[in-house]
Amino acid sequence: METMIRMAERLSTGATRLVNRVNTARPRLSRCVICLASDQGGGLCRTCLLDLPHTDPCCRRCALPLSIGERGAQLCRQCERTDPPQDLSRIPWRYECPVDRMIQNYKYHGTRAQGAALARNWLEAADVPEPLPRALIPAPMDPQRLRERGFSQTAELADWFARATGVPVLAGRLQRHAGYRAQASLSRGERRRNLVEAFFVSGSAPLPEHVALVEDVVTTGATAEAMGHCLRRAGVQRLEVWALARTP
Ligand SMILES: [Zn+2]
Ligand SMILES: [Zn+2]
Repeated sequence: METMIRMAERLSTGATRLVNRVNTARPRLSRCVICLASDQGGGLCRTCLLDLPHTDPCCRRCALPLSIGERGAQLCRQCERTDPPQDLSRIPWRYECPVDRMIQNYKYHGTRAQGAALARNWLEAADVPEPLPRALIPAPMDPQRLRERGFSQTAELADWFARATGVPVLAGRLQRHAGYRAQASLSRGERRRNLVEAFFVSGSAPLPEHVALVEDVVTTGATAEAMGHCLRRAGVQRLEVWALARTP
């Protein structure tokens, strides 16, 4: 825990902010975005990478931590009961310090070096099994939020993952209706059903049978599930969820 607190403090120092800017502008002069030690070009030194909070052991399908009674099993009890649309999740880190701060700095403060540092080390940490999917589909953002933020973190993550794995990005097919907001007055079940209506697949060309949906953070899993059902209805047979972090 002390290591995590030290890491969080370092993430907010002026020197680190400067390095993060330099890393973004000139990736060759790469230093660890957490401790400033030199790295091997991925934005994180070995020590900081291995110190990040890992999801293992977790459910193969939803990446939630397995409880003591579930250890040794591949799936959590929830997934055995509810049969979610994804077959597999590759989400290496827990959404905890310092991963949460790094993702927030990237999404809300435009510190790309911190998002890039996680994305460039994702493949090694996520241990993606063969066969690889045929396409990466970035989770669509609400159009208004996209205008406000000026970039889509999931589109950027998909590009980073594509470079690492060689799997092409299929952008623009999975879309989100503008202005959709979950209604607080609805029950959890109704909200889940309603959320399915927020997404649609554009165009008539069939989607590849095996795809990975790319998200930055999976929180309750309800949004990823809604997108997953949408992709399944459009012909996807095998669905993976690739993300940086999972809220435990
Ligand atoms: Zn470091
Ligand atoms: Zn599960």
